[in-house]
Amino acid sequence: MACGPKKKGMACEKKSLARWMLEKKLADADVSEEEQNNILKDLEKKETEYMRLRRHKMGVDDFELLTIIGRGAFGEVRLCREKATSNVYAMKKLKKSEMLRRGQVEHVRAERNLLAEVDSAYIVKLYCSFQDDEFLYLVMEYLPGGDMMTLLMRKDTLTEDESSFYVAETILAIESIHKHNYIHRDIKPDNLLLDRTGHLKLSDFGLCKPLDSSSFPNLTELDNAAGNITNTSADGDKPLSSTAVPRRTQQEQLLHWQKNRRMLAYSTVGTPDYIAPEVLLKKGYGMECDWWSLGAIMYEMLVGYPPFYSEDPMSTCRKIVNWRSHLKFPEEARLSPEAKDLINKLLCNVDQRLGMKGAHEIKAHPWFRSVEWEKLYQMEAAFIPEVIDELDTQNFENFEEEACTEWWQSGGKM
Ligand code: ADP
Ligand code: MG
Repeated sequence: MACGPKKKGMACEKKSLARWMLEKKLADADVSEEEQNNILKDLEKKETEYMRLRRHKMGVDDFELLTIIGRGAFGEVRLCREKATSNVYAMKKLKKSEMLRRGQVEHVRAERNLLAEVDSAYIVKLYCSFQDDEFLYLVMEYLPGGDMMTLLMRKDTLTEDESSFYVAETILAIESIHKHNYIHRDIKPDNLLLDRTGHLKLSDFGLCKPLDSSSFPNLTELDNAAGNITNTSADGDKPLSSTAVPRRTQQEQLLHWQKNRRMLAYSTVGTPDYIAPEVLLKKGYGMECDWWSLGAIMYEMLVGYPPFYSEDPMSTCRKIVNWRSHLKFPEEARLSPEAKDLINKLLCNVDQRLGMKGAHEIKAHPWFRSVEWEKLYQMEAAFIPEVIDELDTQNFENFEEEACTEWWQSGGKM
């Protein structure tokens, strides 16, 4: 029996107060005895793990470093195995000098804390973090299903049923971080990871390269573009005229996008395709910006490429701030009227955007008619990833070690 809060002995009292309260809560709640025991056992395990971590200062030497599974603006993500426990994790390594240069240190610290504090089924769990002279390390649970970017590249487009599954799970994930008063600002397919069973979790909290003002067009340029709502060509930057380049078919645009996609993802700038106009214009923004990104992802799932895709990131930014004249649905994509309606209600001005008053507004949209929100994470996923064992990385791209070093030495430029 655990000691109650009135017992003497500070150490015991302090450690068990939480447990005592939990036991009481469980006893009051309608939870079977077996479930109560499981919850308490789980808590005990977490406490032991926590005490172990506190006693031992973790470092990179505690891990065996394995395959590279991701690469980003600040460093790489690797599969690794903790030597003491044989547990497998994903280790994200961030180069401090690069973070300093971009003034992101405070940001990264805040994000680390968020990852550590928020215990949500929809967010990738942080196991521990540490640093050495050169790098900061985040050790997370490994999600072997790959990321949504990879899934989309393999499938071209998803059906409306498949898309509604992922869009719905993304809504739950965004809702859960908003509940902690946090805005992600960088919701995009690369940051939506899939677990062993194909369910989705959100990761990469605000190591926000797209917000780096030096990376994207300056404010005046975008402001001018936003004020200048004339008819423009499908390419975003040139006015329509009789000599305008003919519009690409959906298939041509898809091929073009796929050719560029990974390069954009691994560039230091990142892809601006999912960023809300108010974020680009730096006019002050709130949680609604994440719902815009959701709309852009939904569009990509159904059409094959994101709504404002253009040859170069600058033109994409211009198209985004001029979304009124650039948001179009290719005929060939055959979207249902409900899907178009939802996208139109997400890719619009902040004051009209669905989700302004909370995620429930979006959840109530008819496109989600067949989604059972409460049961979503217990249902079978739209695709079950093939995962052979705990070290399987088949759902990730192959990253050559050597190529990566070269890439790294070149300062992340490709
Ligand atoms: P960046 O800030 O560079 O975008 P991310 O945290 O998004 O870094 O990681 C880059 C990529 O690495 C992701 O798109 C994903 O493919 C992979 N990745 C990151 N974290 C994990 C994880 N916990 N499990 C599996 N793959 C991951
Ligand atoms: Mg990322």
